[in-house]
Amino acid sequence: MKTDVVVVGAGFAGMYMLYRLREAGFSARVLEVADGVGGTWYWNRYPGARCDVMSMDYSFSFDDALQKEWIWSEKYATQPEILRYANHVADRFDLRRDIQFETRVTSARFNESTQRWSVETDGGETFDTQYYIFASGCLSVPKAIDIEGQNGFAGATYHTADWPLDGVNFSGQRVAVIGTGSSGIQSMPIIAAQARALTVFQRTPAFSLPAENRPMDDDERARLQNDYPRRRAGSRHSLFGVPDYPMEKSAFEVSDEEREQAYEGAWDKGELIAIMQQYNDLLIDDAANETAANFVRNKIRSIVKDPDVAETLCPTSFPIGTKRACLDTGYYEMFNQDHVELVDLLKSPIEKITATGVKTSDREFEFDAIVFATGFDAMTGAIVNVDVRGVDGVELADKWDAGPRAYLGLAAHQFPNLFMITGPGSPSVMSNMIVSIEQHVEWITDCLVQARDNDVATIEATSEAEQLWVDHVNDVANMTLFPQANSWYMGANVPGKPRLFMPYIGGCGVYRDKCDEVAKNGYEGFTMSSHTVKHASAG
Ligand code: FAD
Ligand code: NAP
Repeated sequence: MKTDVVVVGAGFAGMYMLYRLREAGFSARVLEVADGVGGTWYWNRYPGARCDVMSMDYSFSFDDALQKEWIWSEKYATQPEILRYANHVADRFDLRRDIQFETRVTSARFNESTQRWSVETDGGETFDTQYYIFASGCLSVPKAIDIEGQNGFAGATYHTADWPLDGVNFSGQRVAVIGTGSSGIQSMPIIAAQARALTVFQRTPAFSLPAENRPMDDDERARLQNDYPRRRAGSRHSLFGVPDYPMEKSAFEVSDEEREQAYEGAWDKGELIAIMQQYNDLLIDDAANETAANFVRNKIRSIVKDPDVAETLCPTSFPIGTKRACLDTGYYEMFNQDHVELVDLLKSPIEKITATGVKTSDREFEFDAIVFATGFDAMTGAIVNVDVRGVDGVELADKWDAGPRAYLGLAAHQFPNLFMITGPGSPSVMSNMIVSIEQHVEWITDCLVQARDNDVATIEATSEAEQLWVDHVNDVANMTLFPQANSWYMGANVPGKPRLFMPYIGGCGVYRDKCDEVAKNGYEGFTMSSHTVKHASAG
């Protein structure tokens, strides 16, 4: 099949990309593994799954009627509600006719003589396309389970990111959950409410803050909707893609009492970044960070009644905020229930999964079900899963062997006409992702329109621009405390993955300005070629 653009993935990124491409007059085909739209919200159906950026902000802003007509029922919508929203967007804009479901892209090859991509699927189809766009998600490939004996367990096993479509009932069961990141922390209080016994296997404790979730009443919704012009604009030019708090002071410019009061207020807000945005040095100064970390540790100690359990739940091995914080509903309180047990894997690691349960270095446990909440091969997993070959047959996976390299996180040298939505080196997972998705989709569409209007056959990032951007991404990360943590931002959760900070932490607003400037300067840092001749861009 011949088309102008192939888009991989029908999550929010792929859906909006399709909408924009159509509006701009391009033909496009979206290829998606699942049998429905929604991406993250299609796959992650575990109990308790919900967003942790307020729904009024974690939603599309590109269509005013859409943002006014959709009624979010809670501050943080549940997975089913977000999936309904994704389906509503697909129907409202008639997207499904250009989305091919149950189709996995397996390879993409650039043909230098035709200057087009040849894209193959697991169904044996080939697409001949001028542009190839990854909208395949930063958190869409579950990390391979690296625990011995996983397949020998006689009971049921589940992964939070590949949850059965019709749900699971744990009533009366002895359940294990392995992993205490956001997925584990969101799901466990609900699993505990059903199960006869819940055993939590924790390797690294996380910092979790209360979501303070609540139904959204009509007045609040109307107030926020009326404020959308200011709120959306604020998000686009913010650090993390949500309306900013002022961050004028250092944590040490105020008295201990004032700081403690500020943290209390932020804790009660129930927002992911409320504490970390109190002072401007919390993510760059160890001592400042420790004031916030200590505050949260003391909160854990005040909630969890057993002092040993509380201490085990207190993170001490990384600065707060440098592994992604979690928002929970009743997570720490759950440990006050008699049928919930915490196992500290730092003291007694898992040796293997047995036919009947889990064996740690000092005990054997029996379970009816094991839930893996063990995370993702983040940011690069879905991209390198496809066999992508660019100019001279160079493999993208080889190019990224020592870590991902992309200009603005959008494009890679030697891979003409290939774009990534929220690719490594862009704010992506450091932001409200929908804000970042909209920005990338709009930038890419404008770029493709410019190329078409100027009879450009290929557009490719230069090696120099790519190197400068990769250096910049690293330099900014190294000014912060982020590299101290063994996080998935650093690739540290996947054995053998290169250890470097993958997203751009310079902020959504700064990044947007940079992308706009690149476009304004004639796509500075890109090489454009006409159908026969290559020439450097104006910039
Ligand atoms: P995805 O939604 O991941 O969609 C990518 C799609 O590509 C998937 O459907 C996948 O099946 C498909 N795909 C991948 N490879 C191929 C292939 N080779 N061929 C065909 N199809 C392919 N972000 C926030 O900002 N706020 C939140 O509150 C938030 N909560 C989250 C909660 C969970 C449980 C998780 C896992 C992530 C969360 N995120 C959150 C991040 C979330 O991933 C993004 O917000 C957003 O949904 C990503 O959309 P996307 O379209 O880029 O990718
Ligand atoms: P994660 O944050 O990577 O957490 C995985 C957990 O599993 C960690 O506690 C990890 O411990 C543990 N683990 C991994 N392998 C293990 C092993 N072999 N043995 C024991 N423990 C192991 O993954 P996630 O919870 O799925 O979340 C990923 C991201 O998705 C989040 O950070 C967030 O961006 C997004 N998300 C958001 C929400 C939301 O609230 N909206 C919900 C879910 C996910 P170590 O830390 O020691 O490796």
